[in-house]
Amino acid sequence: MALKLYNTLTRDKQVFEPLDPNNVRMYVCGPTVYDFAHIGNARPVIVFDVLYRLLRHLYGEQHVTYVRNITDVDDKINARAARDFPDLPLNDAIARVTAQTTAQFHSDIAALGVLEPTVEPRATGHIDEMKAMIETLVAKGHAYVAEGHVLFNVPSMKDYGRLSGRSLEEMEAGARVEVAPYKRDAMDFVLWKPSKPGEPAWPSPCGIAEPGRPGWHIECSAMSEKHLGPVFDIHGGGIDLVFPHHENEVAQSCCAHGTPRMAQVWMHNGFLQVEGEKMSKSLGNFITINELLDTDRFGGRKWHGRVVRLAMLATHYRQPIDWTAERLTQARATMFEVAELLSGVEATGVPNEEVVDALSDDLNTPSALSIIYGLIKSARRNPDNAPALKATLQFMGLYGGESVDDLDPGHEARAVDAAAIEAAIAARLDARKRKDFKESDRIRDELAAQGIQFKDAKDPKTGEITTTWEVKR
Ligand code: AMP
Ligand code: ZN
Repeated sequence: MALKLYNTLTRDKQVFEPLDPNNVRMYVCGPTVYDFAHIGNARPVIVFDVLYRLLRHLYGEQHVTYVRNITDVDDKINARAARDFPDLPLNDAIARVTAQTTAQFHSDIAALGVLEPTVEPRATGHIDEMKAMIETLVAKGHAYVAEGHVLFNVPSMKDYGRLSGRSLEEMEAGARVEVAPYKRDAMDFVLWKPSKPGEPAWPSPCGIAEPGRPGWHIECSAMSEKHLGPVFDIHGGGIDLVFPHHENEVAQSCCAHGTPRMAQVWMHNGFLQVEGEKMSKSLGNFITINELLDTDRFGGRKWHGRVVRLAMLATHYRQPIDWTAERLTQARATMFEVAELLSGVEATGVPNEEVVDALSDDLNTPSALSIIYGLIKSARRNPDNAPALKATLQFMGLYGGESVDDLDPGHEARAVDAAAIEAAIAARLDARKRKDFKESDRIRDELAAQGIQFKDAKDPKTGEITTTWEVKR
């Protein structure tokens, strides 16, 4: 089956035709490294890892180039560095913050079964490329110098707004922020800006005397050109990046290179929220990948990275996703079963074709997973089917040889609070007597998320229900 992908640019699903099948090229906007990556940031990382694996399967491992950048110059990084290392010179503090955060990001996403991209460029390693592009844009009349800044002149690009589906008039009417006096047009955006003393700074382009630093959007235009060329196949990121980040990337790249497109296909993952609410520090539901893996802060337990991955892929990438302990508990139950079935099994053959077909339909992971549940069932009935299941799960990054114990991190350390469990059992039986089954189910699920399973027994004479419990692994 031909690979079909939904394209934000054309707003429909199209058959994917690479510009060069010998070198299929994909760029995905990576993290700004100032803090732990949160579980929302994990979504594009996992989703585009699945696409990378699929492209490698379809075109050959040697014929796919995947670039995922690191943004290591940003105001948020500067602020964090000043806060965390007040005694260090700012530039040293920044180097510490970006090195620590990048290392943490790498170890977090490796646990999620994510392959390394072909290239992981850093913004600070591409300042010369950014400056060259900025000079080109000025020379072609798409950008101008004003008060130590270089600005992209939005009205100079006829197609501006096409990716995000906004007209320039609408955008200008809606621009409520105070517009800097040096801008020719309210929508003009920064390509280069002056640095304050002590901030990271490079010699400026375009004859500007003061040293400065690049704007965020130009980073991706310069890095994608360097590693993938002026026009490439797929550009991805979260839906929040469509405007202004991706719209501005398109403007910069197309105007600098004189091309009608920057990427053939634009793909955007939907947003993740936590237990029904937008994730935010003030609501207390902000959850990092590291907290899921290494602390008991979500659902009262640590979660294995492959369980997190499976939970993420249960929803189609373009849909919003609600992150709950229940979702993780279900994924964990599946992974326990997989670990039991696959222990000691050698993978043979290729990934299941129906699974590949489901993924080829705009990465339909829910459909791929329902086929996989069928494969699990058939492996349970007949162990001869286990090797094919293993090959399929490995292909999707869902299995790396984990044992049942591995999938239950921290299980030895967790003390069971028997009194609290007995209280929960009493509350649940009470709720059932009131026929408040919503509440009784909620209590049962809450305990299940902590690995405590209830067993009900009915006294044959009195009809009374008693509940015992056990720790599931
Ligand atoms: P940032 O470091 O904020 O630029 O984000 C890195 C990546 O994570 C981008 O592709 C964002 O679109 C994506 N992202 C950020 N928050 C969420 C969220 N809550 N759900 C899904 N994707 C997100
Ligand atoms: Zn970008």
